[in-house]
Amino acid sequence: LNIAELIEADKKHYLHPTTVPKLFVENGPKIIFAKGEGVRVTDVQGKSYIDGASMLWNVNLGHGNKELAQAAYDQMTTIAYSSSFYGYSNEKAVRLAEKVVSIAPGDLSAIFFTSGGSESNDTAFKLARFYWDLKGRPTKKKVISISRSYHGATVSAGTATRIEGFHSFSGSKDPDMVRAKSHLTNCELGDRNDPNYEGCIRDVIEKEGADTIAAVILEPIQGAGGVHVSPDGYLQAVKALCEENNILLIADEVICGFGRTGKMFGVDNWNVVPDIMSVAKGITGGYAQLGGVLISKEIRDTIVQYDKILGHGFTYSGHPTACAIGLKTIEILERDNILENVNNMEKELKKGFAYLTDKYRYFTKSRAVGLLAGFELQQDREADLPFAETVRPATFVVEQCFKRNLILRAADFEKGKDIVAIAPPLIINKEEISEMINIIDAAMTEFEKTVK
Ligand code: PLP
Repeated sequence: LNIAELIEADKKHYLHPTTVPKLFVENGPKIIFAKGEGVRVTDVQGKSYIDGASMLWNVNLGHGNKELAQAAYDQMTTIAYSSSFYGYSNEKAVRLAEKVVSIAPGDLSAIFFTSGGSESNDTAFKLARFYWDLKGRPTKKKVISISRSYHGATVSAGTATRIEGFHSFSGSKDPDMVRAKSHLTNCELGDRNDPNYEGCIRDVIEKEGADTIAAVILEPIQGAGGVHVSPDGYLQAVKALCEENNILLIADEVICGFGRTGKMFGVDNWNVVPDIMSVAKGITGGYAQLGGVLISKEIRDTIVQYDKILGHGFTYSGHPTACAIGLKTIEILERDNILENVNNMEKELKKGFAYLTDKYRYFTKSRAVGLLAGFELQQDREADLPFAETVRPATFVVEQCFKRNLILRAADFEKGKDIVAIAPPLIINKEEISEMINIIDAAMTEFEKTVK
């Protein structure tokens, strides 16, 4: 393998997501992955890393899983592809639909397949509007999303996304997206006279009018926004608010779904049943591009009553290979008691966090729900004071971990928030968690030296 040539070809011809193209072309790829096994990945130079981020929160069963590869091979050599338009179907898509519905909360009773999370959320918005149209409420079109949320990069999901960098260059945005303040149901917690005041969800419903709002979308635990866990009672309150106002609740389970939080779905941590649920990532553990949108029995029963067409779908909706991998993923999750491991490893991770909190005065606000975890860095944790904007401690610590062969992710796009996200594969063991903590420990020591 000619690595130098590979790097040059990458710089020349491969435009990567979320990069500064100029810097990328100057510096080249940071790492070219070659292989993976369990929680570890190896680059083309043979250097091995712990994948403490499950790549993009998706490689939940770890790398190199031969059963998943076999499921793909078996399916590809049976039938490579079949359309799911025009009344066509295939066995694996049907079986996966049946299986996902059986493990989903409440009365979620049908799934529309997509190829990923953004498509799932765009689909969720369309389904919500379709439902209200059929119910004779065509003015209910708007979707409320909350600050710091990430819902994808397509036009509608990208507009719903509240990490602002994702809005540039998208041309005309989806005009039916409205913004509410994060994690606040109590509208008193904000200055209504502030011109930048964004109301809480209740405020926004009142301002826009419930008759214009189709749905509220939120992640039970925000991932890319910095691992923000819904406070107890919050999801229940939003659900009640939605019910009170005839608004659908969409849970974006793209990261949380399929065991990441120690329950099968994120909402299960609070026993809330959404009307619509978007999934992707963990449904195949990253082994194939698959997403889906689950809908309640009420929505399903409504949309099958009329002969109005929902013009929507993707070539790869219900792709048999992706669905075969999805089925095998859920089989492994259940057969190998992966959720039990997630809950045990959450405890190990929290022990490590307690040790780091004691040792470093800048280490704070650690959290873990299952293996969706993170911590923050603050100048003065007692006074809740961030570091100066010039310091970027989360990026520094993540870089130090990287030097020590641990891949993590920084979420420091928001002023005064320096968050490090941790989301290892769900199959991680105690020794591997200790290894991660030891590396973070060393990275924190380096960071401490830089603080004056
Ligand atoms: N929703 C959430 C919560 C996500 O984290 C992501 C991706 O990270 C998406 C949606 C978009 O998914 P995709 O990148 O597969 O389109």
